[in-house]
Amino acid sequence: MPTINVNVVTPDGKVYDGDVDMVSVRTVDGELGILPKHIPLVAPLTIGAVRLKNGSTVEKVAVSGGFVEVRPDQVTILAEAAELPSDIDVDRAKQAKERAEKRLEEIKQEQTDSKRAQLALKRAMNRLDVSGK
Ligand code: ATP
Repeated sequence: MPTINVNVVTPDGKVYDGDVDMVSVRTVDGELGILPKHIPLVAPLTIGAVRLKNGSTVEKVAVSGGFVEVRPDQVTILAEAAELPSDIDVDRAKQAKERAEKRLEEIKQEQTDSKRAQLALKRAMNRLDVSGK
């Protein structure tokens, strides 16, 4: 069975180099499954998992954006950041998730407050206008 060589590279160095049956990546246009002899292409990646299929096993690599370059015998993934499951600090990811959720909640609250202030401003201006003063 033909295989395809996959390299996952970040600014910090190589994260993965191996031959696989199939690799799938998340491009900005959707999931892309790549088999050996795929037509050459370059596509931007979104945040997602790269799936490396070998027989019945699937390895995953977390990728935080970047580009995929496909050639018939090789796939190069140039990622902003990439981690193998064993390199992922779960506590750090949980803390990052909590921080981000908290910040999004604050932004939601700020938007509500800003809407409320805009309406208060409109009411006051309307009253001033109607008062003629
Ligand atoms: P954090 O807020 O925890 O730093 P982040 O999303 O801002 O997360 P990135 O800027 O994507 O982090 O990554 C910076 C570096 O830290 C990269 O080298 C990335 O591989 C590494 N990294 C980020 N989060 C983790 C994690 N949970 N486990 C292992 N490495 C991580």
